[in-house]
Amino acid sequence: MSLTRRQFLLATGCTLCAPAIRATPARPRAIVIGGGWGGLAAARHLAKRCEVLLVERQAAFVSQALGNRWLAGLDDGRRLHQDYRAAAAALDYHFVQAEVLAIERAQRQVITTAGSFPYDWLVVSAGIGEDDAALFDGDQAAARETRQLFPSAYTAGSELATLQRKLGEFAGGEFLMTIPFAPYRCPPAPYERAMIIAQSIKSRGLKAHLTLVEPNAPWPGYQRVFGEFFRDQVTYLPNTRLRQLDPYRRVATLDIDEIRFADAIIMPPQTAAPLCRQAGLSGRDSTWAAVDPRHFGLAGDERIFVIGDSVGAVSPLFGHYPKTGQLASRMGQIAATEILGRLDGKAPEPALPESTCFAYLNLAPAQFTRIDTRYRVRGDGVLVQSMSQTRENNPQGEDDAWLNARHEELFGPAALL
Ligand SMILES: Cc1cc2nc3c(=O)[nH]c(=O)nc-3n(C[C@H](O)[C@H](O)[C@H](O)COP(=O)(O)OP(=O)(O)OC[C@H]3O[C@@H](n4cnc5c(N)ncnc54)[C@H](O)[C@@H]3O)c2cc1C
Repeated sequence: MSLTRRQFLLATGCTLCAPAIRATPARPRAIVIGGGWGGLAAARHLAKRCEVLLVERQAAFVSQALGNRWLAGLDDGRRLHQDYRAAAAALDYHFVQAEVLAIERAQRQVITTAGSFPYDWLVVSAGIGEDDAALFDGDQAAARETRQLFPSAYTAGSELATLQRKLGEFAGGEFLMTIPFAPYRCPPAPYERAMIIAQSIKSRGLKAHLTLVEPNAPWPGYQRVFGEFFRDQVTYLPNTRLRQLDPYRRVATLDIDEIRFADAIIMPPQTAAPLCRQAGLSGRDSTWAAVDPRHFGLAGDERIFVIGDSVGAVSPLFGHYPKTGQLASRMGQIAATEILGRLDGKAPEPALPESTCFAYLNLAPAQFTRIDTRYRVRGDGVLVQSMSQTRENNPQGEDDAWLNARHEELFGPAALL
């Protein structure tokens, strides 16, 4: 009988590469899964009172918030990667690079490729997954081919570098880009990316064209920009659904039409990270995690918190929190404060998160949009969101200052600024 990797690890109690963590009643064990915006903030705050282990499959953090600007050549990439080990050493927690295979809730332990680790408290910030099944009618090979050739470059990992190479090599023809159904991660980022591609087509004088397809209502600011500055480069098709994709013939079937393309960025519908589904953290009728909207504790398990982009609807008025890095990081602080409060037998009123997001509308001349979201609790306990969007036609590095401040919150003095 052959053992699965997980069974092997369980049988051998393998602790290869595993840091030794000595918890005491005064400093209980907290495990944080996922070293993105949410997980890093939670680890930093929990480390004040807990022995914290951050488990992350990647060796280094890749700042997606910087990704589009780096693609556009507006950033030298120095800050793009941040070292987990340096952050953990500076901020007094442990780090192990490993894949989390399972969460054993009854035993309160996390099974990873570097061994199994017990926890008193668990914070899961594993980001998003992508569900492309509907596009390929069960054809797994076509789905794999599409992920390899036309990745969304929207999750942590190496896809961003692949996209940079692909855009550099694009020599002409039709470029197709699809946006998923809302909610999805960082709402303005796909349009910003489309604008960067359009600008590259325009400034390189390529015989090329971008078709941007999305099933959602149009984003007015970018619709104006595409019409005003990129009339010859971009066709924007809102309220249009991608039905099927043939990666071999490079044909996309839309609601009303078929498009042949030379290259593409295909963004399938997003879900909570696969780990959430595997570990039973997703809601019964949802592909997102079901948690308390204020402190992010998992329904039915007081030792587990799920934060960040995995989180499902929090309000009947606006649905999901915007899936942004700043919001994920605020969730990490709030969940950590809740855990530390419970250690002291207290139940503090959770703080409310907030988010600011910058996205370039145009590169030449430089213009960006700034989106601020704030929250309050109505008398009946329902969360209310207010959002403001402003246009900046003469940017003076506000986005850069914002990013440095956020990175410093996550990495402390170890941040490369
Ligand atoms: C192009 C782009 C631009 C963006 N711009 C902005 C911006 O300007 N401002 C802003 O606020 N936000 C921005 N965002 C959004 C921001 O990056 C996300 O909201 C944020 O990363 C969410 O944090 P998270 O912790 O939920 O997930 P992530 O940051 O994705 O972190 C999840 C981590 O979990 C790890 N993981 C998952 N499963 C496992 C497992 N089984 N085992 C081990 N590790 C695992 C992953 O490797 C990953 O590192 C942007 C996103 C993109 C794609």
